[in-house]
Amino acid sequence: MSNNSTYQKLRGHLAYLRLAAAAEALPAELDHAAKENLGHTAFLERLLDVEVAATEARRHAGLERFASLPAPWRLTDFDFDAQPSVDRALVNELGTLRFLEDATNVLLIGPPGVGKTMLAVGLARASVDAGYRTYYTTAADLAAKCHRAALEGRWATTMRFYAGPRLLVIDEVGYLPLAAEAAAALFQVITQRYLKSSIVMTTNLGVGSWGKIFDDPTVAAAMLDRLLHRSVVFNINGESYRMRTHRAHADNLRRTTQPPTNT
Ligand code: ADP
Ligand code: MG
Repeated sequence: MSNNSTYQKLRGHLAYLRLAAAAEALPAELDHAAKENLGHTAFLERLLDVEVAATEARRHAGLERFASLPAPWRLTDFDFDAQPSVDRALVNELGTLRFLEDATNVLLIGPPGVGKTMLAVGLARASVDAGYRTYYTTAADLAAKCHRAALEGRWATTMRFYAGPRLLVIDEVGYLPLAAEAAAALFQVITQRYLKSSIVMTTNLGVGSWGKIFDDPTVAAAMLDRLLHRSVVFNINGESYRMRTHRAHADNLRRTTQPPTNT
């Protein structure tokens, strides 16, 4: 058999096995192997390395798409000096993702603009990068999806969907009061994941005010019970980062547009 027909067969095998990246890299890798006098093992290792890298990139892109993160934030983007009420060491510890191993929940409590979503997304991003199935949703979106699912007879499938990811972020709990059905959905999602897989939840309401989100204070209490049983809680009480930058701009403007006053 000629060299050329062996080459064509090899291309055919790679295509049949759907090793597209390796097939594409084959001519260049053959050239490289000839030039560098590589043995069979070294050549094959390099060729498969190309395929492994492509598969990993594809998998990561899939996880990233699925996660639906609302922003590209990473934990390293968080300015801890601006928010002294956030324990930097604790955030760094969470960044190792060990908390996913024993299904610890993370609860971020604080007023608007203090970086709750940023921290939640940063943790989710770390989880995606580590190869874990991760999903971000707002409480309102979860409620809407569950409502539609109930109407269309897909409740069980939808509940399985929220049970699936290794990490589930539920953002903005408490911004809107939840109707009884939405509260039931949230309760079921939390119960399903309880002691199995982690939730990162953000809320503007201290746990003492959770009765306000739900019509039924017993549901609120049961939910909190499960959430907090194994959890890390951040009470972020600084001022809004948005307001802070806004104020800095305003101060700068004032300084540059007004003559200093003598008092
Ligand atoms: P929250 O979810 O608490 O309302 P966000 O996480 O959405 O607040 O933060 C509001 C804005 O301020 C975002 O643009 C975010 O990137 C920025 N921000 C908040 N806190 C910090 C911080 N400590 N370091 C850097 N940016 C921050
Ligand atoms: Mg937010």
